[in-house]
Amino acid sequence: MIDSKHIKYFEKLLPKDFVFSESGDCWAYGYDNSKMHVIPDCVLFADNKEQIKNIISYCYKNNLPITARGRGTGNTGGSVPTDNSIVLSLEKMNQIIEINTKDKLSIVQPGVINKDLQTELQKENFFWGPDPSSQEYSTIGGNIANNSAGPRAIKYGTPRDNILGLEFISGTGEIYKTGVKTSKGVVGLDLTRLFTGSEGILGIMTEATLKITPLNNAIRTIEITFNNITDASETIIKLMTQPDVPYKLEFIDSEAIILINKIKKNHYSDEAKYAVLLEIDGDIDYIEFAQQKIIKVIKSNKYNSISVASNKKEIENLWSARKSLSPALREIGKYKINEDIAVPISNLAKLLKGLEDISKKYTIKMVNFGHAGNGNIHVNLLFDTVKEKESEKSKKCLNDIFDLVLNLDGTISGEHGIGIIKKEYIVKEIDKKTLDLMKNIKKQFDPKNILNPNKSI
Ligand SMILES: Cc1cc2nc3c(=O)[nH]c(=O)nc-3n(C[C@H](O)[C@H](O)[C@H](O)COP(=O)(O)OP(=O)(O)OC[C@H]3O[C@@H](n4cnc5c(N)ncnc54)[C@H](O)[C@@H]3O)c2cc1C
Repeated sequence: MIDSKHIKYFEKLLPKDFVFSESGDCWAYGYDNSKMHVIPDCVLFADNKEQIKNIISYCYKNNLPITARGRGTGNTGGSVPTDNSIVLSLEKMNQIIEINTKDKLSIVQPGVINKDLQTELQKENFFWGPDPSSQEYSTIGGNIANNSAGPRAIKYGTPRDNILGLEFISGTGEIYKTGVKTSKGVVGLDLTRLFTGSEGILGIMTEATLKITPLNNAIRTIEITFNNITDASETIIKLMTQPDVPYKLEFIDSEAIILINKIKKNHYSDEAKYAVLLEIDGDIDYIEFAQQKIIKVIKSNKYNSISVASNKKEIENLWSARKSLSPALREIGKYKINEDIAVPISNLAKLLKGLEDISKKYTIKMVNFGHAGNGNIHVNLLFDTVKEKESEKSKKCLNDIFDLVLNLDGTISGEHGIGIIKKEYIVKEIDKKTLDLMKNIKKQFDPKNILNPNKSI
């Protein structure tokens, strides 16, 4: 419980309405998309870095744990305050400070919503690579802290590939600046990329210098179906290892196809067991040529059908099948565990086969789809009741899935991070010695362990 004297201090320090301490007001700042909910004792807002510096310095002096929060869309409890402590909401730090197209960079505060930045950049014919599906709600700060990315990552990368520098405040209340404003730079250790993906445990980000990219003016969407997983994965490998890499490449497994066909009235034929939906981008003057090249690559392997969409209506129709999947999952299971594992793409077929075996072994329904160009598959375990979801059987099933993924040289999280939800599994992937090194690094940034304690490592 946060002592009332601390709340009084914050009320003096910050403008009116920048401190919530009534549980009704704090309620909405205690959960994220993991469905965990711990009501914080106090929620603080800040609209400049000096306020944040003063907040953290005070927390450091008084040993008060504090959790940064963007918009609480994370999937792993990263912004949930495990110990009813203080939540620091960055939502008022929402200024786009600079868009500099000559140097291909943009400087933003952490609370800027991803989509708002993309809208401003689009006016200049630019974009920022990372496009998580939550981009209409999630913040750049949350995207960087979780290294979150979406379908475009296969060509345009994750935040780690699209960040030049950062400003952050450490667990002692000191302000640090990292990185460069140039597209090259090798001076000192790369703290920018260490911070990116660190889930709020190393510091509070107050500013980010992002690498931005010119927009292409034409796209083509192609849907391919296959009779078996070997053909599908061979084609994915071929597509990803030639120069004209698609900028989106989504995979849909046989269970997902059955589900889509129920909702979208036989979108796929009976022979279609697996599908790949890809998009290429390029200049209007040579997109036709790029499309022909991609189709040649696809036809060099076995496939079942190919559909090409070039106008808005056709493109929307192809994507609507993929987009119908998440809501459709509720049709076959009210409760789900959604994992975001990734494997090297050469192991995709083995992964899918292994998942099928695990699903049969535990008689747990599984639907798999996702960003196959990165080998990043969303594995959805579906249950009729919450009791089944939380049962020993489902835990064992999850354990087997992680073992399978790690045996295939993969990772237990391709994009959602560890937070609280996956913390018990991190030792499966990272050995003790390396984990201890990481913990010692955290101590340098946050000696009293006040920043988002009990999360990630
Ligand atoms: C419908 C939906 C779709 C999604 N799709 C995707 C997807 O396609 N790809 C994907 O990767 N994820 C996806 N996610 C997960 C989530 O949206 C991302 O993790 C997102 O980046 C979180 O942003 P946020 O602003 O909501 O951050 P929050 O959830 O508030 O916080 C996430 C983490 O960042 C830390 N943090 C936030 N701001 C700061 C800061 N300024 N300084 C330091 N630490 C900070 C928090 O402490 C926390 O650990 C999805 C979620 C939903 C609900």
